[in-house]
Amino acid sequence: MTPLKQKLAAMIEADGPLPVSTFMQLCLHHPEHGYYAARPGLGRDFRTAPETSQVFGEVIGLWAAYEWAAMGAPAPFSLVELGPGRGVFMADILRAAAPQGAMVVAANVFLVEPSAPLRQVQSGALAGAAAGHLDALADAPPGPLILLANEYLDCLPARQFVQVGGAWHERVVGLGPSRDLAFGLAADRAPGANAPPAQSALELQPGLETLVAQLAERGGPMRALFVDYGPGTGPPSDTLRAFRDGQQVDPLNEPGACDLTVDVDFTRLAALAREAGLDVAGPAPQGQFLGALGVEARMRALISANPSAAADIHAGVAELVEPDKMGQRFKAICLSSPGLPPPAGFSSP
Ligand code: SAH
Repeated sequence: MTPLKQKLAAMIEADGPLPVSTFMQLCLHHPEHGYYAARPGLGRDFRTAPETSQVFGEVIGLWAAYEWAAMGAPAPFSLVELGPGRGVFMADILRAAAPQGAMVVAANVFLVEPSAPLRQVQSGALAGAAAGHLDALADAPPGPLILLANEYLDCLPARQFVQVGGAWHERVVGLGPSRDLAFGLAADRAPGANAPPAQSALELQPGLETLVAQLAERGGPMRALFVDYGPGTGPPSDTLRAFRDGQQVDPLNEPGACDLTVDVDFTRLAALAREAGLDVAGPAPQGQFLGALGVEARMRALISANPSAAADIHAGVAELVEPDKMGQRFKAICLSSPGLPPPAGFSSP
């Protein structure tokens, strides 16, 4: 039994079953035993796009430099990353944007990261960049903002609801026989106005609402680019997954020892953003988005500078863009303050 499993069992005995969102929050961020707080296993348990190919961060770095210019080249401005992992994405962004000069000079770089061990890794990866750490996006200074986040939204805890015999119930984590963790249904909690009648199960990430409200409150100019996985249309239903050592495992088995993740509801994110008065571009499939930003040309340039690594560079980029790999299931969406031109990389609606 992991130490967190013992703590969760004691909590459930004392206070009753936990909503899946509370379970997810504790598994990821419990200060002593949470996955990110205690033993973040990026690269071992799962691999992200920036860790698959440097070209991912590089073309997005060029995108950021272009969008900064389109904003009127504000100086200074905040360049914020949510959930920076091992700092690879931001390092690639800054390296690619550096020859464009001005944006990197004007940028105050902030990394929003709750995990102490990952903060340390990020500081090492970005040693020359004077990047500051923040506990929350709300702590970023007011003023012009470019925000980037890859595989951040999928970590936001999700509530799960199930419809049985016409009535909605919230899925909870309780105790089964032999005091093991077990999923169950709460009698009285429904998803409210968000419930799609035709669906038998539904996942909702309350963090999406908070995020959109924070972005909308800031005012402009602002661009926020999110890349993550999720269905093209409609809400996710039951997508909670756990990963350890690259394998999918039972989320209840070793809480705190594996990464937990859910699909992102891009349709809802876009609707929330529009309701809050933000402009929305996308979601666009990752392969299409990176293609529009010139990933092929960047790959060829990298190969001609490193001909002996051609096969690896090619394989990394193929992983990012091919529809049966990350190209279709991963999507990019850009939320902007009103009044800016459409962002690059998204074909017009
Ligand atoms: N963006 C990186 C890492 C993705 S892993 C990459 O693409 O390689 C998820 C990251 O989000 C980790 O850095 C994790 O610690 C962070 N994270 C998880 N929950 C968070 C939260 N609530 N606020 C900010 N960061 C969070």
